[in-house]
Amino acid sequence: SSYHHTKELEEYLKGVHAAYPSLTHLHSIGRSVEGRDLWVLVLGRFPTHHNIGIPEFKYVANMHGDETVGREVLLHLIDFLVTSYGRDPVITRLLNNTRVHIMPTMNPDGFEATKEPDCYYTRGRYNRNGADLNRNFPDAFENNSAGIQPETRAVMDWIKNETFVLSANLHGGALVASYTFDNVTGSLNGYSRSPDDDVFVHLAKTYSSNHASMYKGTGCDNRQTFPEGITNGYSWYQLEGGMQDYNYVWGQCFEITLELSCCKYPPAEQLEKFWRDNKVALIEYIKQVHLGVKGQVTDKNGNPIPNAIVEAKGRPHVCPYRTNEQGEYFLLLLPGTYVINATVPGFKSMLKTVEIPDNTGNFSALKQDFSFSEVSDQIRSRVASCPKIPLYQELARTSAAVKPTLNILVLMTIILVIFK
Ligand SMILES: [Zn+2]
Repeated sequence: SSYHHTKELEEYLKGVHAAYPSLTHLHSIGRSVEGRDLWVLVLGRFPTHHNIGIPEFKYVANMHGDETVGREVLLHLIDFLVTSYGRDPVITRLLNNTRVHIMPTMNPDGFEATKEPDCYYTRGRYNRNGADLNRNFPDAFENNSAGIQPETRAVMDWIKNETFVLSANLHGGALVASYTFDNVTGSLNGYSRSPDDDVFVHLAKTYSSNHASMYKGTGCDNRQTFPEGITNGYSWYQLEGGMQDYNYVWGQCFEITLELSCCKYPPAEQLEKFWRDNKVALIEYIKQVHLGVKGQVTDKNGNPIPNAIVEAKGRPHVCPYRTNEQGEYFLLLLPGTYVINATVPGFKSMLKTVEIPDNTGNFSALKQDFSFSEVSDQIRSRVASCPKIPLYQELARTSAAVKPTLNILVLMTIILVIFK
């Protein structure tokens, strides 16, 4: 097979939608600097809209225009999903219980600017304005002075408008599954741990262990090894304005970064093999959207309460996770016992202890609703506030005095910045 450039990509997606009109929904979430559509194909039993209880999942590829494997692998995935639906019982159940959003390219201009397959860094990494889109998001730890690009803005709006629970963004130039945080919380101890670190480790291992070779952790040369094929983003190298931290902090969506190929833009003859190497991992990863617990928060009349805070005790998000317009929440948690705290701001909290089983095989998280019998309609108009300012900045500042190996870190960042 050969690479799909803009025209072929659009024809491909429109062809799939025409062949599977009730299983797919094709839309553009915005345009690149040069005016190319940012296409998203949605797959599921109800592809055009959110349904209560059905979590939203997304894959985004090619945000670095010269990292091309993910772009093509996602087209293979689309083909596999639509042709398996109704035939393969696992894929059928998966798509009946999950809404899957696939964006093959977030940086179509960069892809078109990369003329020849090249294993190494090229200018096509950036968008048409020369911006690195994976440094272009608001950052939880420091002020990001980069002007928000059209491609970034489109993705931010998309995240705001959907109830995404889990996602991955696909890159090239290494072979590893990297997870949040990419920037630093408190101290430079070589690992930037989120409150959901156990879940992120599980998610990254789910991908690497189901990949043909990523789990071996040998990386791409002798310079670096990644035990079990995973790494904390910050442990690998620090970056500001990355998409995965943004998803987790502001999008209520757990996202990991998948580096799929040592060669950023390999010859087209290798694409089939990349698809075979990633096929099982891509499917198993989607299933993880059904980890944990989900439910609805309602008032005395059974009406949904939007913007209620629902969190698991002991793992508070710096920007608390809130219910959507339908009063729904989704919390990705590993099997175990948890206390779930539902709070209607300014009113009251309700605690429930839940025993979460390993339920990804059931294609449904544990269901736990919260009914606030004392809450009436007035309380519902409260607006959630989560400012786009660096939320962890105070933490970072207090630890700024401890930077013993700063020069080495700066040097390593310069060396490694070409990868992600
Ligand atoms: Zn990249």
